[in-house]
Order: sequence, then structure tokens, then C-alpha cells
Amino acid sequence: MKAIEILKDFFFLERGYLNANHFAYRSREPILIDTAYIGDFSHTADRLSAVGIEMDRIGLIITTHCHCDHVGGNRILQEQSGCDIALHPLGKHYMDTRDDWSTWWRFYHQEADFFKATRTLEDGEIVPIGPHEFEIIHTPGHSADGIALFNKKEKMLLSSDALWEKDMAVMTLRVEGRGALPAVLSSLERIASLGAQRVYPGHGPPFTRVNEAISRSTERVRRFLKNEADIGNDLLKKITVYTLLMQRGAPEDTFYPRLMQTAWFKDTVDFYFSGQYRIKYDEIIKGLLEKKVLLRKAGNLYATVKP
Ligand SMILES: [Zn+2]
Repeated sequence: MKAIEILKDFFFLERGYLNANHFAYRSREPILIDTAYIGDFSHTADRLSAVGIEMDRIGLIITTHCHCDHVGGNRILQEQSGCDIALHPLGKHYMDTRDDWSTWWRFYHQEADFFKATRTLEDGEIVPIGPHEFEIIHTPGHSADGIALFNKKEKMLLSSDALWEKDMAVMTLRVEGRGALPAVLSSLERIASLGAQRVYPGHGPPFTRVNEAISRSTERVRRFLKNEADIGNDLLKKITVYTLLMQRGAPEDTFYPRLMQTAWFKDTVDFYFSGQYRIKYDEIIKGLLEKKVLLRKAGNLYATVKP
């Protein structure tokens, strides 16, 4: 997958589902936005080198939120370069207090490293990335510390996990609380008011049908509000796939007992499906195999989506 130069010296690096998409501004003191997943760091470093980023010269990393697929390179890149890392004040608080619950890492058994948050980014603040100016848009809901970046001149939005084209990022009410769904609706309204004409999302390719994407997500949240079991099903499917990507597949005979040892699987089935663990597991795996999101090979389960 080639990097796209979306503004002068500013590159969009599209990744997959395990690794969030990220951005790099090439200069004597490069600036990065997000750094993908820790397990694929060497691939991330190769992608950055390919667009001319010198890792030891990085001046600033902007983190759109502290989920593991967005902060994977932060600690190591900060060690190599001594760079600043800027994020929403809530995210900085999570790092300052070593809070691996609010970041979801503990709940979902994800690998991630704490890093030194040196700067905060407030809603409405303008951040220069070389000659390009971006406004910080706080987008709570999916993650309380979520931010998007908007370039008014080009009507270009870097939406992170606040807006995807065809799907929507997972909702974790257990961590974010019940206010998370109304918060998503407010964040989508805020995004709609920007008049963005091109969106570079946290996952998936860039898109221009911005209003359609906003309407699709809004409808989805309204359905979630009417029928909470939909949230549970969506979460179980997405995190099952994510877990298989993190683990590069898993033996099928031990996958169920391993999921039962995680906090998220048991908790989610308890919360939405009154504890019918095995029934739910079988249903989710069957559905994902039928849709070819998973495949079964030599006794193992693998995710087929791009990591
Ligand atoms: Zn996220």
C-alpha cells in the first residue's frame, strides 16, 4: 500500500484493522500523527523511512486517542528522538496516572506501552504541521479522549475513529459509560458542522461522501440506543477479529477457553446476553466464518482482514 502525499510533504499511510492509519510530515523535525500497533512496529518504521522520515529527528507525535492501534510506536519513537507527544488532556491524564483501564488495554488484553505525554491539545486549538494548519476537534464517544484534526483551507478532516466510511468503531460502554452513545451523536453533529469534503479515517481508505458516512453512523447509533444487544454483537465480532489479528491466529480448540479468561468476553456476554458464553461464541465464530472474515486452517482460526 503506497503512502499518499495529501498536502505538501504530509503523507497519509493507510494500514488495516490491527494497525490504525497514520500520517507523517516530512521535515528536519518530522511530525507524526498516530503510530499504529506495537506488534507491527518494524513495519511502521519501514513505512515511515520510505517517505523520508528520520526516526531520531522526530519532533512531535500527535496522538488522536490512546487505543493500542494508535499509540504502538509512541514509547520507542520517543526514546529514539526525545520528541514531544501531544494529545487531549484526558489522554495525558491516562498516561500520567498509568491508567490502562480507560485506554481499554486491560479490558481487551491488548499490548501497549505507556509513554510520556508532554503536551495537551484542547478542543478548538490550532496546530501547525509545517505550513499546514489543523484545528483540534474533540470527538468523545468511541473514546473520551478522542480528537480529530480539521484543515479548514482544504476542508480536509483526519477523523481517526470518530468517523469511518462504511462501518463504525466499536463501542465499549463498560469502560466509557452509558453516556458514550449520546456523545457519539454530538461528535457526529460537530463533525457535520465542519463541512469537510474529504476524510482520512483511522481505518479504511479516504472518502469524500462525508454526509453519507455521517448519516450511516448516526443511524447505527440510533439503532444501538433502541436495541442494546446490537452493541454486544458488534463488539463480540470486532474484538474476536482483533484478538485473532493480535495473536496472528489461534488454535481453535483452545480459543474459547482463552476468550473465557479475558475480561471483555465474559463481561460482554454477561451484560448483553445473560451469560450464554458458549452459545454466543459458536454463533459469532460461525457468522464470521460464513462471511469469510475468519478462516479455518489446520485446526487454527485466522482473521482474513488486512492487519
Ligand atoms: Zn479507537
